[in-house]
Amino acid sequence: MGKGSKARPKSITADEFWDNWDAVFGEKEEKHYEYHCGKCGGLDQSEVHEEIEINWEPYGDQTVPRPVANLTCEHCGDEVEHVF
Ligand SMILES: [Zn+2]
Repeated sequence: MGKGSKARPKSITADEFWDNWDAVFGEKEEKHYEYHCGKCGGLDQSEVHEEIEINWEPYGDQTVPRPVANLTCEHCGDEVEHVF
């Protein structure tokens, strides 16, 4: 224990906050899906296949890689939308 040091409130991320919130207040009233497939509806992250595609783009006199995330549905292979 350092002398004179008080326990500081731990700073947490929003994700941690809501995890704690769920842990304290229990059941969620409605499931919030992070992803949406046009055919299958709401999807969890575990049902989404993410592929990173590298786009090479000219930048000045060189070419730089720009990663683009490609989200597809694990069930039907359709493109998936990320909803917030
Ligand atoms: Zn689907």
